[in-house]
Amino acid sequence: MFHSIIPPYLLEQLERSASDPSLRARYRQSLQHDAVLRSRPAAGRETASAAGGRQREVYDAGNGTDLPGTLARAEGDDPVQDQAVNEAYDGTGATWTLYKECFGRDSIDDAGLVLTSTVHYDRGYANAFWDGAQMVFGDGDGEVFGNFTSSIDVTGHELTHGVTQYTANLAYDGQSGALNESISDVFGSLAKQYAMGQSAADADWLIGAGLLLPGVQGVALRSMKAPGTAYDDPRLGRDPQPADMSGYVDTEDDNGGVHINSGIPNRAFYLVAAELGGNAYDDAGKIWYGTLTSGNLAESATFKDFAEATQATAQRVYGDDSAQLAAVTKAWQTVGVLGDETSLMNAAKSSLEPSAPPSLPPADE
Ligand SMILES: [Zn+2]
Repeated sequence: MFHSIIPPYLLEQLERSASDPSLRARYRQSLQHDAVLRSRPAAGRETASAAGGRQREVYDAGNGTDLPGTLARAEGDDPVQDQAVNEAYDGTGATWTLYKECFGRDSIDDAGLVLTSTVHYDRGYANAFWDGAQMVFGDGDGEVFGNFTSSIDVTGHELTHGVTQYTANLAYDGQSGALNESISDVFGSLAKQYAMGQSAADADWLIGAGLLLPGVQGVALRSMKAPGTAYDDPRLGRDPQPADMSGYVDTEDDNGGVHINSGIPNRAFYLVAAELGGNAYDDAGKIWYGTLTSGNLAESATFKDFAEATQATAQRVYGDDSAQLAAVTKAWQTVGVLGDETSLMNAAKSSLEPSAPPSLPPADE
């Protein structure tokens, strides 16, 4: 399954607004490239599982499109001259560390999958993607986007598509697709917060803050704290994300707005983390991770299904009268996914349904 960080509507907007023909051609090529990759069957390459522990391999495509390319740095190797190689190594490492140390998960498949990345993919390629088996990074168009290895949260976002693929496997369309996108933003941001030792209050809650080049009127690709405010630029257009259900966008584009309506669950997670204080990768992260891996989530889950599942997780882990359950309920009410009368009843009901044993580390860890 092909998941790219830059949605097609953004590249289309850039192509429309570019005055320089060679730049326009670069966006067109990225778009056509993505369309081919998107329609391709899931990557069939064998991926190796290590005996456990962190195993990274970074390859260089040399501005070609053969994957994975030439091995440039493997686990334990010293840094090399090429900054993109080192950033991919560090970003995939930070993501592995978040999952291992905060949630007890050994790599994407929880069985030590080798984290494979390829940098310098194609020429002027304005995207990064997870292809079902590995990460791939472009160097950017050089006008709006710099090198796609520059943001830990972008790398964490893409690798989390792999985690979702191995767990809840949320269908990449409509609300379940927006949840799939949001979960990637949540754990991408948490990978950065954990690597930088930031509390929920210190974090910028931005996705792709390092990606926009100077001169772009914007701070990032998305803001989890304030969806719809990440950019407003003559070339990029305006950030289309809604902050609550009143702005929900019904569209056929972008797999039914998966990169647009993800702003709603993104903000719900931010609100839970802000309400609880401390580190977002502690309680808020454990509730979201526990929900993703509970076995209780349908592949076609709606926002409401997911909200109720997070309530059930919070109740199971922290209890009926916990601040955590109250924060989860309040956050989903604030973004308009749950009504005011909600819904400790529903949470109580879901918790009685048969469920896989929770794969959470102890709450006080
Ligand atoms: Zn994504």
